[in-house]
Amino acid sequence: MTAPRKSASRRTGRSAGGLKRLLRLRRSRHDGISDTLWSRILRTSLYAQSLNAPDRQRLREIANRLLHTKSFSGAAGLVVTNAMRARIALHACLPILNLGLDYYADWSSIVIYPGDFRVHDEYMDEHGVVHREIMDLCGQSLSHGPMVLSWEAMRYEDDAPDDHDLVIHECAHKLDVLNGDANGFPPLHPDMDVREWSRDFQTAYDRFRATLGAEADPGIDPYASEDPAEFFAVLSETFFTAPHRVNEKFPTVYKHLQRFYRQDPCRCLSRESP
Ligand SMILES: [Zn+2]
Repeated sequence: MTAPRKSASRRTGRSAGGLKRLLRLRRSRHDGISDTLWSRILRTSLYAQSLNAPDRQRLREIANRLLHTKSFSGAAGLVVTNAMRARIALHACLPILNLGLDYYADWSSIVIYPGDFRVHDEYMDEHGVVHREIMDLCGQSLSHGPMVLSWEAMRYEDDAPDDHDLVIHECAHKLDVLNGDANGFPPLHPDMDVREWSRDFQTAYDRFRATLGAEADPGIDPYASEDPAEFFAVLSETFFTAPHRVNEKFPTVYKHLQRFYRQDPCRCLSRESP
């Protein structure tokens, strides 16, 4: 990269400083997220705001790369804007900030509906009986296929932030299926213990289901009790939106998520503002 830049400088006779400014300008033109838009979408994630400056810059770079590698399309008449694409890219890149964009290499498109969308599901139970269901969903991750999202759900999160993050939830499913079925068991790093992960997640999941209903405020979205895959997806979104809740309720699981995502949102969010 260095040599062509130098030769360009010689040909045009520009000073080194002038060339740097020109390269910066060119880069910013190719940058899918303008400074103004970046500041705006950063406000949709407390955790992203709490990252230090170098990490925020890395997040922006990965988000830009995601915008170039994934296609975005609107369904049911929705016109997808740059702001929508950028907002989704920022949230999608939070879980892989320290993992890399390659973790999303097996899928390529994001479909956005204006609101909830209807799907027809068919599955066979353990007795061989086929069930057909019609469901209204706000998000869906098809294995190796598109990620489907409701824009209304994302707008709701931005207007009234809480522990929900639809994009992170669906991205957690994408990570989960990298090594097979959606079962709350993503491909762990070599320095992680598979048996400890399975044991601690199963214990937490069983305890959550057993105590659900007994507590006035379960602290975690009850949807986590659906199955182990949803437990992992809900805890992942809570890990990045309200990490103290995961740490207080399931400290062992928090540590596993911390090691898997290679991030510590509790520490970042509790850091005092400079
Ligand atoms: Zn889910």
